[in-house]
Amino acid sequence: RSITVDLGERSYPIHIGSGLLQNIGARCVEAGYPVRSPLLLVSDSSVAPLYLADLESRLREHGYTVVSHIIPSGEASKSLTSYEEIMTTAIKAGLDRSSAVIALGGGVVGDLAGFVAATYMRGIGFMQIPTTILAHDSSVGGKVAVNHPLAKNMIGAFYQPSMVLYDLDTLSTLPQRQVSSGLAEVVKHGLLVDRDFAYWCREHASELLELNPEALGYALERGCSIKADVIAVDEREQGLRAILNLGHTIGHAIEAVSGYGVVLHGEAISIGMAGAALLAHKLGRDKSIYEETVSMLSSLSLPVTLPSHYDEDELMAAMMHDKKFKEGKMTFVIPNSIGSVSIINDVSETAVREVLTQLKKEGS
Ligand code: NAD
Ligand code: ZN
Repeated sequence: RSITVDLGERSYPIHIGSGLLQNIGARCVEAGYPVRSPLLLVSDSSVAPLYLADLESRLREHGYTVVSHIIPSGEASKSLTSYEEIMTTAIKAGLDRSSAVIALGGGVVGDLAGFVAATYMRGIGFMQIPTTILAHDSSVGGKVAVNHPLAKNMIGAFYQPSMVLYDLDTLSTLPQRQVSSGLAEVVKHGLLVDRDFAYWCREHASELLELNPEALGYALERGCSIKADVIAVDEREQGLRAILNLGHTIGHAIEAVSGYGVVLHGEAISIGMAGAALLAHKLGRDKSIYEETVSMLSSLSLPVTLPSHYDEDELMAAMMHDKKFKEGKMTFVIPNSIGSVSIINDVSETAVREVLTQLKKEGS
């Protein structure tokens, strides 16, 4: 399966399937990386032991010079410190303007390696090899970044890869919670614009959770192409791209107050999507949207209520810190129906607070 992200001269292909990494050398040639220029592989301490050696040797067989940099797994590595260390590796290895950075891992590796690729000599080649389901989202769209101690994703760029290579075989080693977390973004793409796909996800939930290759391949293809379509219209988030934030306003607040990594990103936005559907009901949409949303997310073993230890004041404060409020009003993406959303600019603080309380009640 292949999809094209249509961005004029920055267009690039996403290849999805089993066994793709066996042809990594040919893919690098296809991406336009000359064999005389060194390649930098970036991976993390969980993924590297599983897949890195094989990738290195295939690239070397193809005549490439390869240097690898492994970061500790986890969000803490998406830092300026890791960024500088990778730059050091790149400079010492003599990467030149025709070189490329290859990200082998989840969203953390992709965002960090992408920022290196965007800034090394003002930009060199960049290939994404996502190894999580969540990374179907992060590897498409060109947002690359590292975190600042005071704010997540604060230092970054828009930088499109030259190719995304999604080898489904690498997903077999994902821990179960990471599988569900990634599927939250998959079903989100259905909830945004594709009613049939959202229902398809619920129908095939058990196959998806078991990583059935047919079901998973289709789900990732739909997820990536919906995201690609949104990006093609609005690469730099001037308008439409904001719909991708469904569930993220509340979700980011949950992540921020829990400490990153305690609640997984997909788990947090799952609760956030349930919240957005409750808010939609408050604003006059049908209650069935909430019920259907919750049933879809639950079928994928995702949380849909707010555990009782969360404090509404703290969550509201996190949203304020996120600058989501302007004069007591905030912007929210809410569903109109399954498969359609609106961006609402004047949601009151009170309504959001009531939703948080209700999300807690639903859980008790
Ligand atoms: P991650 O990269 O931390 O991966 C999750 C965990 O799974 C890590 O511990 C990792 O080591 C492990 N792992 C990865 N692949 C594995 C495999 N195949 N087998 C076994 N273990 C594996 O996290 P993620 O959920 O992939 O991505 C989250 C990051 O993505 C966040 O930093 C978030 O900000 C970013 N993100 C970016 C965008 C974007 O548009 N750029 C969009 C969404 C999320
Ligand atoms: Zn997300």
